[in-house]
Parts: sequence; C-alpha cells; structure tokens
Amino acid sequence: MKKNRVAIIGSGIVGITTAFELAQQGHQVSVFDHNQTPAEEASFANVGVISPGYVAPWASPQMPKRVLGDLGSKYASTLISWPSWDQTKWLASAVKNSNVESFWLHRGVMQRLALKSQSRMKEISSQLRLEYERQTGYNIIYRSNKSWQNALDSLSYLSALGINHKVMEPAEFSNLEPALESSTKWVGAIHLPEDEVANCRQFAIALKNECEKLGVEFHFKCRVEPLSPSNPKSLVTSDQTAHTFDQVVVCAGLGSQALVANLPIRLPIVPVYGYSLTALIKEPLDAPRCGLMDENYKVTISRMGNRIRVGGIMEFSQKPQYQHPKAIQTLYKVLDDWFPKASDLSQQIQIWKGARPMLAKGSPIVSSTEVDGVWVNVGHGSSGWAMSCASAQVLADLMEDPARSKDWPELTLKHQG
Ligand SMILES: Cc1cc2nc3c(=O)[nH]c(=O)nc-3n(C[C@H](O)[C@H](O)[C@H](O)COP(=O)(O)OP(=O)(O)OC[C@H]3O[C@@H](n4cnc5c(N)ncnc54)[C@H](O)[C@@H]3O)c2cc1C
Repeated sequence: MKKNRVAIIGSGIVGITTAFELAQQGHQVSVFDHNQTPAEEASFANVGVISPGYVAPWASPQMPKRVLGDLGSKYASTLISWPSWDQTKWLASAVKNSNVESFWLHRGVMQRLALKSQSRMKEISSQLRLEYERQTGYNIIYRSNKSWQNALDSLSYLSALGINHKVMEPAEFSNLEPALESSTKWVGAIHLPEDEVANCRQFAIALKNECEKLGVEFHFKCRVEPLSPSNPKSLVTSDQTAHTFDQVVVCAGLGSQALVANLPIRLPIVPVYGYSLTALIKEPLDAPRCGLMDENYKVTISRMGNRIRVGGIMEFSQKPQYQHPKAIQTLYKVLDDWFPKASDLSQQIQIWKGARPMLAKGSPIVSSTEVDGVWVNVGHGSSGWAMSCASAQVLADLMEDPARSKDWPELTLKHQG
C-alpha cells in the first residue's frame, strides 16, 4: 500500500498510540497539539484502570435509578449541576440508549476493544521496555448484598470472555490487601489478577519518545484551526502556516467537533467531568498494593509508584474550573473508608478535574468519514486509556484497507446515526 504523509491532531493517549501504529506501518507521521507536552488534557491524571471485563457504557439499564438516587445524597458518583444544552441533549440520548439491547451491544464492542488493547499495550511495553508506573491486579469491592449478588450473577460473562478472576472472601482478601481498613463493612470482592492500574500520561510520554525514533514529528504549542471544506487536508495552525498531508486523523478529544465543524461530520461528544486526588504515600505498608474500585461510589483507588490516586465522579456542568465540594468529599470518603492511613492528607495534594470526551452510546468512533482523507479516532469517554492501543490499531488497519471496517461496524460514523 502507498505510504502516506499523515497528520494527527491531538497528542492525548489516543493521538500518541495512533501515531505509533501508523509510524509502525511506515507512514510519515506528524502530530499537532496546542499544549506543550503530550497528554495534558483528559489523559493527564486519570485513575489508570485497565480492566477489560469492567469497561462498559455509562448508559446502562441501572443508570437512571442510580442518577436519581445520587441527587439528594451527601456523597455521589454522578452530579448534574446546570448542564449545557448539548449535555442535556446528550443525557436524553444516554437515557434512550440505556436499554438492555444497546447496553449489551456497546459493552460487547468496548470489551472486545479493551481486551485487544490490553494485549497490545503489554506487547508494546515489554518489547520497548517502556518505563511507567504500573501495578498489576485490580479489585472491585461491593458494600451491599444486592450489588454483590448482581456481581456474582455476571461472573459467567467474565469467564466467557476468558478473563481470569477470583471471588474473594474477607479473610483471603486481607492477604491480598493487608492495609484495607477492617472497620468498613463490605460483602464481597472480585479480584482480577491480570488487570492493572497504570500511569497513562507517563505511558504517553514514553511512547512519544519511541514515535520520534520512528521518525514521527511533533509540533507542540500548535493549535489547528477548523478544517476547511475546500482543502481539508491542509492544516492551518495558529501561526497561520499551512501544512499539507495525504491523510488527516482527528484525535483531538473534546476539541474534535470544533475541528470538523465546517465539514459534513457530526461528532456528538460532550465533556463529562471527573476528578482525581493524588497524594504521596506516607507508609507503603498502609497503602493499597494494587487498584481497588468501590462499586457503590464508582470511585477507584490506585497505587501509582510512591503516590496514591483516588478518582471518579461523573459531573455534567459548564464549570471546568469549579471543584464541586460533593465530588471532593466523595473521593476523600472512599479513601478514608478503605486506606485511611495511606497518605498524609495535610501535605500537598494534587486535585485534578478532567473532562472525558463522551459519546452517549458508549463505544468510540474509529472511522473514515465522508470527506476523503479525513479520519476520526474519538469519543473514548471513561475508558480511553483502556481502549487506546486497540483503537489505534483499528484506525491504522482501516487506512491500510478500508474494507476492514466490517470487522468493527459499531465503531463507524455511520453506526452513530
Ligand atoms: C477522572 C477521570 C478518570 C479516568 N479514569 C480512567 C481510567 O481509569 N481508565 C481509562 O481507560 N480511562 C479513564 N479516563 C478516561 C480517559 O482519561 C480518556 O478517555 C482519555 O484520556 C481520552 O484521550 P484522548 O486522547 O481522546 O483525549 P485527550 O487526552 O484530551 O487528548 C486530546 C488532545 O487534543 C488536543 N487538541 C484538541 N483540539 C486541538 C486543536 N484544535 N489543535 C491542536 N490540538 C488540539 C488537546 O490539546 C489534547 O492534548 C478517565 C477520565 C477522567 C476525567
């Protein structure tokens, strides 16, 4: 196949992995980003979970009840606070897609993508000896009998996917996580020994260095203007310079819709805010050994080297800078419930609010478009780190042979409707 000059817009985890796969295939790749370094936006301080069996659309059959239940409570996994008109339309679409059929269709696609991604990430990391913080093992802990029963009922699904897992009783679990606070009540836990929590930003930076060895050129501090309908493969950057390519791949997360706004491409992506707190571990013996997700609050506690990170929350609002007290309180509560002595919280803590680029159906869009030579790899929502390596492979395969879209029909723009 003809080797192309390819432009990638965006150097988050999706843009970097896409640049790597395309460079591996021999294309001449240039990456543009308006930030100074890779992964400064949604990929910056996520909780790092890579657990394909638990990747799922937010629009689930349980979601409407969960959201309503969160409205009046002191702690919450979802916050809806004066959403924008786009977020409101998105919420309506998510409710529409929360039916069993749509949920299982998109969950299946996302899990297939995440499994492929996990295996590709392991391969890349070991072949290139990438250095980044990672901790093998992930646990999901359940506080109520009802949620635990639901979890047990779905274990056959994990088995069918070939995902190694173990049901843990409290006595056994304390060997796995000796620092877990014993006074907090819980009913059961599932241990996933091959899943992991890992530092997405560090991986992105390490892979960017490998991309450079393959000849990829990076243009930072370079905002790309909306693509022009008359010449969409000629990128105009903020300094008004034009750069012309054979192919353009939009991997710009939340900036993607604005980039294609003048083209016949619709990307119904909205920001759904989340939070993470990162603090130094005071005493390693008091910290978690791997990742732990509190299913009740949908909050994850991750071990990141000598730091602990706790994160989650889905916030629909128009205030990217505002830190909602309920969100922060929920993260502190979950940390205090499970690992109260892990960190000295009076010391410096990094509080991060990031925006997930979300689509209502759940699966991302990895696709060609109606505009010749313009491609998209966008809308990875809550699981972009977990699906990134496979999304990049799918995009690179499509560029090699567009007929391969039949392998992943749900990821095409056509499927979004
Ligand atoms: C609190 C929180 C926790 C999370 N936890 C997890 C998790 O545990 N596991 C998981 O898999 N995922 C998780 N995620 C989701 C994950 O972080 C995202 O899905 C992923 O980072 C999206 O990557 P991206 O490359 O698409 O977007 P981004 O990382 O936002 O990258 C987009 C890039 O495009 C650039 N850009 C945009 N417009 C332009 C333009 N016009 N010109 C030039 N550059 C442009 C931006 O500067 C940015 O660098 C979490 C997210 C949040 C907020």
